[in-house]
Amino acid sequence: MLLDVADLEVRYGRTHAVRGVSLSVAPGEVVTVLGANGAGKSSLLKALAGAVRPAAGRIWLAGQDITALAAPDRVRQGLVLVPEGRQILVSLSVRENLLMGAYCRRDAEVGRDIDAIYDRFPNLAARRDMPASVLSGGEQQMLAISRALLARPKLMMLDEPSLGLSPLLVSRLFGLIGELNREGLAILLVEQNTRMALRAASRGYVMELGRVVLDGPAEKLANNDALAAAYLGGH
Ligand code: ATP
Repeated sequence: MLLDVADLEVRYGRTHAVRGVSLSVAPGEVVTVLGANGAGKSSLLKALAGAVRPAAGRIWLAGQDITALAAPDRVRQGLVLVPEGRQILVSLSVRENLLMGAYCRRDAEVGRDIDAIYDRFPNLAARRDMPASVLSGGEQQMLAISRALLARPKLMMLDEPSLGLSPLLVSRLFGLIGELNREGLAILLVEQNTRMALRAASRGYVMELGRVVLDGPAEKLANNDALAAAYLGGH
């Protein structure tokens, strides 16, 4: 497995946000984590990224125990998080935002990778020297994903990337997720857009009140009546 998580616990004082979660992601796999607001999905991703210290549990990346590693060291090992709400720096230029994604790298190929991003996203190329505040919501999400790509990750974690995007941009975003995956990137996708997420993923986990209550192949989850009633109804 590329990522292995065992019995992870996250607490904020008396709030027990993640309760004994175990999950895995194989190399090159797309896995989704579903669940209602407050189920603990963001806390799980933050703990995996090293932004929140787990109260218990173990995390392995490519067989190496990274539980005690600081966040930048996890990025160096190939684990990146695109946080909820993009978190790009709107007063910095597009190019400066991209460079931030490469802060852990020492190699000479950063410029080449940025050019590849510009080739992929002409809208970012055209605005490379403008403040990121001029970008639309969809372009800001592309910038956030591009910034994460500049770390040359093995596994990208995306926290509700479709939030606030129009249906057209949501389908473009999922197109990009599929494209990156075909290029070999493994993806751990937290989504409220259950239908799209289950279409993109090969497996999924459903969280409720901090626990995994259901997991399995995406196709099976998509046909699960209880899940359909809770998350798929009416959409
Ligand atoms: P959302 O979709 O709303 O982000 P989520 O499934 O990602 O929901 P979390 O954001 O991980 O869930 O929240 C899980 C629980 O932990 C909630 O009860 C939330 O109020 C609480 N929580 C999250 N962050 C903190 C924090 N920094 N301090 C205290 N409690 C927190």
